[in-house]
Amino acid sequence: MSSSSTPTATFIFSLLPLFLLLLSDANANAVDSASTVCIIGSGIGGSSVAHFLRRYSPPHLNFTIRIFERNPVVGGRMATVNVSGHIFEAGASILHPRNLHAVNYTKLLNLAVNSPSSSDESSSSAFGIWDGHQFVFKTLSFKSELPFVDKIVSLANSLLMLFRYGYSLIRMDKFVETAVNKFCKYYESFETRPVFETVDEMLKWAGLYNLTTATLAVELADAGLSPLLIQELVTVITRINYGQSVSMSGLAGAVSLAGSGGGLWAIKGGNWQMAAGLIDRSDVELHLQEEIESISSNGEYYELNSTLQNSYTCDIAVVASPLDELRLKFNPPVSIPKRELQHTHATFVRGLLNPVYFGLKSVAEIPELVGTIEIPDLPFSSISVLKQHDEKDFTYKIFSRKPMADAILDSIFSVRTETIRINWGAYPHYTAPEVFAPFILDGQHLYYVNAFENAASTMETSAVAAENVARLILSRFPSIVPLSLPSLSSEGDGGDVHVDL
Ligand SMILES: Cc1cc2nc3c(=O)[nH]c(=O)nc-3n(C[C@H](O)[C@H](O)[C@H](O)COP(=O)(O)OP(=O)(O)OC[C@H]3O[C@@H](n4cnc5c(N)ncnc54)[C@H](O)[C@@H]3O)c2cc1C
Repeated sequence: MSSSSTPTATFIFSLLPLFLLLLSDANANAVDSASTVCIIGSGIGGSSVAHFLRRYSPPHLNFTIRIFERNPVVGGRMATVNVSGHIFEAGASILHPRNLHAVNYTKLLNLAVNSPSSSDESSSSAFGIWDGHQFVFKTLSFKSELPFVDKIVSLANSLLMLFRYGYSLIRMDKFVETAVNKFCKYYESFETRPVFETVDEMLKWAGLYNLTTATLAVELADAGLSPLLIQELVTVITRINYGQSVSMSGLAGAVSLAGSGGGLWAIKGGNWQMAAGLIDRSDVELHLQEEIESISSNGEYYELNSTLQNSYTCDIAVVASPLDELRLKFNPPVSIPKRELQHTHATFVRGLLNPVYFGLKSVAEIPELVGTIEIPDLPFSSISVLKQHDEKDFTYKIFSRKPMADAILDSIFSVRTETIRINWGAYPHYTAPEVFAPFILDGQHLYYVNAFENAASTMETSAVAAENVARLILSRFPSIVPLSLPSLSSEGDGGDVHVDL
């Protein structure tokens, strides 16, 4: 019997499987330890990037995700305020019924939901448009325990609106519906939905880009809306939702109008729980109260330096916060179009409005939601009742472009037992045509989720942008997802999806 192999060759071949095994382990470890994604910001944007990175990655690629948050709590502009023991949304408060990421997060995280009609901000509450001297339009309000009375009041209010604004209202609905339908393309499966490298590309693909090139006023006039509807109801809505006039871009305006329709909802106890839940289940190293001061790149990795004098090495860096008012330094510098943030002052008052300020005889005559039109020197954009504690004791929320000075508040309120003021760098000041910052800030692995905020600023648009950025990261970083992987299956929020990046 003869053998063609020498004892040495036999020895090498018998060790080969073990060697290959060690090699593959070493590779796996290299991916694990070397690949770190650093996310700046723990709002819905940052937490969604972490969520989608985990969801779209194969389970064996256990790379590190760090989230840095300068505040002591997560959530960013999703935050609550405590007014004498009662909790209210201080920032982002309402979600649209077709905000599918938020809907999925709610299911995934087992969160309870509030519909506005189940709160004190009832849909049958009276609404009025104040021009600084008088209510130019007012709906009816009739408190009743009987649902059919509510329905009759709501019908009467619809007729009142139709009488004042005519068929323009239906054209407005159609304008909003068309924009919402186009936005819903961002929920299509990966077979038909590409990964977008720029915001322009992403908007053009959904058919939304043109809406960013003209003002809302122009878009609505083109859609056949009457000047009265645009000057009154539409203006009231854009002032409430974005603190801005109808000179804002058509797309941000359409999103704002969508936020005034029916079926709006919120997370019971606070929308911030979406961010908290996503971070919790995404295996994230969370660094609270740690502000990132600088991001430096040497071409191979990023070094993040924090106010705690810590330094972190990251393969991928994601900015999930508007850069406009940040002190964050980039080395080498990055260049993005200059953008102003619209500041919205949210003032919470426990007390009682003064009917005399509104030229009325009793508090009961003041609508639960007072909106305003574009008149110079009007001190507030809106005042709404958040809660009625008893006949003479309410909690109100006021939105204004400038801080509400005590003297003004004292003229609007006859009683004020508690006042809380929050100055939000709230959202971009929208213009038309809009110019967009890139999703990829340096052509390498530095990403900017909030580039999409110039299209519109909502919790859902942040989630949609974050999902795209997560796909972009995975498609451009082969050591995290080897390019040889034909497709990745992800356990869906709502079914099995195959991911081709
Ligand atoms: C008053 C108001 C009302 C609104 N109403 C609605 C609404 O009803 N519905 C809706 O959908 N949207 C609403 N919005 C918009 C919505 O809040 C935002 O579009 C959304 O929450 C943005 O989320 P984000 O994660 O992109 O940013 P953010 O929520 O701003 O998160 C960014 C986070 O990054 C942190 N950060 C920033 N810089 C650093 C740093 N250097 N180091 C570490 N951490 C840092 C910040 O502290 C913050 O927590 C409202 C906003 C405001 C202000």
